[in-house]
Amino acid sequence: MYQLIDGKKISAEIKEEVKAKVAEYKKQGVEITLAVIQVGNDPASSVYVGNKKKACEFVGIRSLSYELPEETTQEELLDLVKELNERADVNGILVQLPLPKQIDEETVLNTISPLKDVDGFHPMNVGALCIGKAGFVSCTPAGIIELLKRSDVDIAGKECVVIGRSNIVGKPMALLLLRENGTVTVTHSRTIDLKEVTSRADILVVAIGKPKMITAEYVKKGAVVIDVGIHRDANNKLCGDVDFDNVAEKCNAITPVPGGVGPMTIAMLMKNCVESVALQNI
Ligand code: NAD
Repeated sequence: MYQLIDGKKISAEIKEEVKAKVAEYKKQGVEITLAVIQVGNDPASSVYVGNKKKACEFVGIRSLSYELPEETTQEELLDLVKELNERADVNGILVQLPLPKQIDEETVLNTISPLKDVDGFHPMNVGALCIGKAGFVSCTPAGIIELLKRSDVDIAGKECVVIGRSNIVGKPMALLLLRENGTVTVTHSRTIDLKEVTSRADILVVAIGKPKMITAEYVKKGAVVIDVGIHRDANNKLCGDVDFDNVAEKCNAITPVPGGVGPMTIAMLMKNCVESVALQNI
């Protein structure tokens, strides 16, 4: 029988811990503020932004909302980011992606002050993670480490295989597993024999972006499988990159979709907002 790693429960615990820390800061006269910028009204982005604002309200973080029109120029957006960088009453800045095509995402993300980059996407923060210095860590992979630790999965010394090498998930995931003393292999679209590599994994993190691609033959018996993917299947049901029904019985532990990695991302964003206070005072 496998252990179902419960992201809903663990993310709720983290949000309660964040709420308590926010209240402690408030007692000391420190109010934490997150500025959330959305350009245009992509429906999926509106849902994500709405969920982030709701989470802020729950934990007691003040959120400032900037809803800019679709035709906003890059200059206008950069001016807003620079203004928020300067504001002493703003701790975190989040620009919801994707941005309209007239705006270069990289330029915008690189303009956010690394000290306010609660998404952990700025090259300074990625570099800090790489060399083991303090900084913001990308929320989804940071959430996966919390899922593992709070489910009593030891990482040290384990064979960890990450499928996917994106800047947001795969690469920071590999660096975090390495920081936890895992023996880490990163696989990607050019890996020659994926099954051979993934079958060695004690901990397999799957971030491919391909619905139900990972079946039992990719998985070692007794492995811990973390599924980052989010898709809708032919019946409009949510599913991951892992074929859960096919894989679960072979695992020691596995995350479901929904209710696994998904809820952790916003919880870790809230945690990063709290940590911004200490980082800004180093
Ligand atoms: P991405 O498309 O940027 O990266 C996918 C990676 O998979 C690439 O590095 C590519 O090399 C690799 N890949 C593609 N085909 C492969 C194959 N056949 N074999 C081996 N590797 C292959 O995606 P991403 O942003 O890293 O996201 C991955 C998935 O996670 C998506 O489904 C996305 O929706 C989901 N996601 C979920 C959350 C969350 O909060 N749960 C957050 C971010 C992303």
